[in-house]
Amino acid sequence: MARAPDRPSGPTYTIILPPPNVTGVLTMGHMLGDTVMDILVRRQRMLGAATLWLPGLDHAGLATQVEVRRRLRRQGVLLEELPREQARHEVEQWKEEHERRIIEQTRAAGFSVDWSRYRYTMDTGSVRATREVFVRLHTEGLVYRGERMVNWDPKLRTAISDLEVVHREEDGELVYLRYPWADGSPGGLEVATVRPETIFGDVAVAVHPSDERYRRFLGREVIVPLTERRVPVIEDAAIDPEFGVGALKVTPRHDVVDYEVYQRHPTLPMPPDILDAEGRLTSDWVPAAFQGMDRDEARTKTLEAVASAGLLLRREPYRHSVARSERSDAVIEPRLSVQWFVRMRPLAAPVLEAVRRGDIRIHPERWEREFLRWLEVIQDWCISRQVFWGHAIPVYYCQNCHREIAAVDPPTKCDRCSSVDLEPDPDVLDTWFTSWLWPFVTLGWPERTADLDHYYPTNVLVTGRDIMFFWVARMMMSGFHFRNARPFSDVYFTGMLRDEQGRRMSKHLGNSPDPLDLVRQRGADAVRFALVFPNPTDEDGPFGAAALDGGRNFLTKVWNLVRFTLSFVPAGTAPPTGPPTLAASGALENRWVLSRYRHMAEEVDRALTGYRFTPAAAVLYDFLWHDLADRYIEIAKEALLGHRGEPAQREARETLLFVVERSLRLLHPFVPHVTEELWHALPHPDTLLALAGWPRTDEAPSDPAAEVEMEPVLETVRLLRNLRSEEKVPLNATPKAWVRPAGSEVARVLASEKATVVRLVRLGSLEFLDDRVEPPAGTGRRVAVFGECFLERPVASGATREALQREREKLVALLEKHRARLDDPGFKSRAPPEVAREAEEKATELAERVRRIDEHLKQESASPEASP
Ligand SMILES: [Zn+2]
Repeated sequence: MARAPDRPSGPTYTIILPPPNVTGVLTMGHMLGDTVMDILVRRQRMLGAATLWLPGLDHAGLATQVEVRRRLRRQGVLLEELPREQARHEVEQWKEEHERRIIEQTRAAGFSVDWSRYRYTMDTGSVRATREVFVRLHTEGLVYRGERMVNWDPKLRTAISDLEVVHREEDGELVYLRYPWADGSPGGLEVATVRPETIFGDVAVAVHPSDERYRRFLGREVIVPLTERRVPVIEDAAIDPEFGVGALKVTPRHDVVDYEVYQRHPTLPMPPDILDAEGRLTSDWVPAAFQGMDRDEARTKTLEAVASAGLLLRREPYRHSVARSERSDAVIEPRLSVQWFVRMRPLAAPVLEAVRRGDIRIHPERWEREFLRWLEVIQDWCISRQVFWGHAIPVYYCQNCHREIAAVDPPTKCDRCSSVDLEPDPDVLDTWFTSWLWPFVTLGWPERTADLDHYYPTNVLVTGRDIMFFWVARMMMSGFHFRNARPFSDVYFTGMLRDEQGRRMSKHLGNSPDPLDLVRQRGADAVRFALVFPNPTDEDGPFGAAALDGGRNFLTKVWNLVRFTLSFVPAGTAPPTGPPTLAASGALENRWVLSRYRHMAEEVDRALTGYRFTPAAAVLYDFLWHDLADRYIEIAKEALLGHRGEPAQREARETLLFVVERSLRLLHPFVPHVTEELWHALPHPDTLLALAGWPRTDEAPSDPAAEVEMEPVLETVRLLRNLRSEEKVPLNATPKAWVRPAGSEVARVLASEKATVVRLVRLGSLEFLDDRVEPPAGTGRRVAVFGECFLERPVASGATREALQREREKLVALLEKHRARLDDPGFKSRAPPEVAREAEEKATELAERVRRIDEHLKQESASPEASP
């Protein structure tokens, strides 16, 4: 069913599933995204499109290697020390285990993906495509190798991209050092730094050009502490005169700004790397005593040495932004190193244009601005990684003439000097360098396949906004560049799930359940429904037991509704082909429910077209639970049971069957298992519900008059029922009631629906009063838009009085507690406004209930019946 046709004849609908990382198993966040995609795909399938939902898996390069490394470390093994073959085997094994689990999870939740087209970012096709793309970009000059400042993770010993760096405010220390004058004059220049261990890589001390304090020192030389090296005092506009005392050391290889300063001053020498790949001091610029020292230890030791040399002036606590690796938490070392980059500006241009023009739409719209802002200032993308798990960079270096050869198929000899002495590039590609090609690689690119013709461009991408830049933007770039077309027309960002205490779900906190366990405990449909309702799918919000219970209760309600319907469907009944034709004198409730159904169907359709999944679920929920199960069925029961004659019975039955059958179709994309099963219990065409047509929204008649007329009937029932319970009318009693309708139209409707009201409220009688007539004494009263309701109070017995007294005491105690809280000045200042307002409303409501009981008790003691 989920297999997409190879040669679709009509319209197609494609979603490429964001391939989950093989680093772990699926989380509830994946479940949310997958549920949203399944709703879209299932609806399109019912609408008749040839749908393709293509699943896959991401090898997740560095991230997976980090996980495997962690697992081995717990067993006392260091991944770096394993022979390369064995290390590879360990990662492959990890991949197998996690892939199996991910597939099991996806199947259990009933997602209708096309398994026959399953892809992996390291399968043969992906390898081929990745190399092809690299070589093409290399030929076009959009991929280059260059010495650049990169984010170096010394723990994982690899470069990582800007997006993998987390910036956090942390407490540190600012130290003030004295750099003595090189000519032996007393004193020296005061320099502030947070990284004293990098002084060995200094090439200058810089000040701001307009800083009057230093003007006279420009061109003089100072000695770098603990070394013999002389460095000049230079000026540069990048120096902040407010930082420290306005004079800064310049260490080009280990600071981004310093490197820029260095580039503006061509006379400065380029120092060697004073930190190695693991962050240890190295090179002949570093004194012997510090060689091989880890950077943290080096900081302490440098400060000690500077202090004993009398060059440490003072130390101050200092809070500043520290860059850490998202993967290892190591402090990032800005490092000048040779890496491969993609030139992003030319690739981003068509994307910017497409999003601005509305060719690609982002939902919810509020994320569009951030998206565009990032593209406008985009930096080149560092794509080389110094790990082994990933696609090899398809570049070979001739050891004879130093030619750099980028080739899809590994060359056997140099194309310039014919030497066979070729060295492959030792690095691998960033994992996103494959996944940014996903929308067309999964369809067979670079081969010219039928799938590419039929299913590209795809329709919508559903994902989390945390990979908006890593992935979403880059897919758009590759789509325009390699396919000359947008990869999808719409992007939908799901919200981030939180637990019921409002904390973000994370593996670390242990508050994110395994979807598979949850599906086994609760059933796939209850979990799916709870992910969509009541918290909006595009907002961060709670997911937990309350939502899951809500999902289960709703499904039980639907289940009971269908079972009830079935009890009125005689064997051999044909499946409904359309709404029943109602007789002119037909019952109001049938006209009403068909019209309500019509508006519900329209709203579901509109909401789903606009990517508003929760509002679609909400109207279905409301209609099925309240309009259909609670109201319509109660009202129509008499007719269904045949108490109003055969034609009325047939009309009610046909109406109920039609509305229930169609509602199951509309509900199907949300909860496919339960609806499929229930639909098959009803008279149905010979197919699966999943393949049955999506209902035409104009099928049932819209009947505004019926909806207007039903309003006072429902309202009268509701108010009289409330009165029944407030006045403590015993369950078996059938009290008298009176209604004073506002206007002749309401009077007419209520008169014609009188039997319904009497039955639903279990009244002894219902009479209509006109304006001049007062209701008898001893009645409870309620006022509404359509008129007033009165209900006869039960004859006061000792027991009733006592019950009322008890209730009064309870209410008064509660009211006092509320008032005390409201009077507490601390509460008012601390509580969020909506909480304070709620508390006030609650107090008012309690006071009103106490007042009603008082009135009741007073009337009773005054009434002659009360005193025997
Ligand atoms: Zn050569």
